[in-house]
Amino acid sequence: MQFSDLALIDPIQKALTEEGYTTPTPIQQQAIPILLSQRDLLGCAQTGTGKTAAFAIPILQLLTEERSKNSTGPRRIKTLVLTPTRELAIQIDESFAAYGRHLNLRHAVIFGGVSQHSQVNTLKAGIDILVATPGRLLDLMNQGFVHLRDIRFFVLDEADRMLDMGFIHDVKKVIAKLPERRQSLFFSATMPPDVAKLADTILNNPAKIEV
Ligand code: AMP
Repeated sequence: MQFSDLALIDPIQKALTEEGYTTPTPIQQQAIPILLSQRDLLGCAQTGTGKTAAFAIPILQLLTEERSKNSTGPRRIKTLVLTPTRELAIQIDESFAAYGRHLNLRHAVIFGGVSQHSQVNTLKAGIDILVATPGRLLDLMNQGFVHLRDIRFFVLDEADRMLDMGFIHDVKKVIAKLPERRQSLFFSATMPPDVAKLADTILNNPAKIEV
């Protein structure tokens, strides 16, 4: 299978060619059609399997289709990706930048341990995609700089690590603010009972993928 078999729009196809990608990885082959059909997804996958592109590519495509119907409205955050560490957050944001470089979508990354000033300025300018670690996200939500009421796509990345790092309460506070009507994606390298239980509270009749 090639990326050209996956019904991707030309600007995304072009970006993937420029990245030097020709063959989708197993998780990409399975996840991209499922996500384009707007189903929820439970993915059991490690980092290094190509899981970031597996969710970023279909989200970029669906956001582009949605924006083409309403291109004059103000930008509101439509996609939230929650991830446990600053390093992962930066990598995911860079992936959205790379695969979305020919699209008219804006993205931002926020994480703790640095001044919030430039993060707040980026948010104020209007973005479509937000990649965040839980603590800084809650901080900025509590200050009124982030609203989640327009979220269409929610990704919980590395859920098992998120729980190991003690972020469960923060994650639950964020989930409580998400609109009911959304597409949710849940990724974890392992699926112990507490992680499976969390997945259950977030996902609605998900397709399941294990790689
Ligand atoms: P990830 O599992 O998302 O952290 O991705 C692991 C690495 O594989 C990243 O450096 C990606 O740029 C790269 N990658 C992802 N998908 C592909 C692909 N289909 N072909 C070649 N490289 C890829």
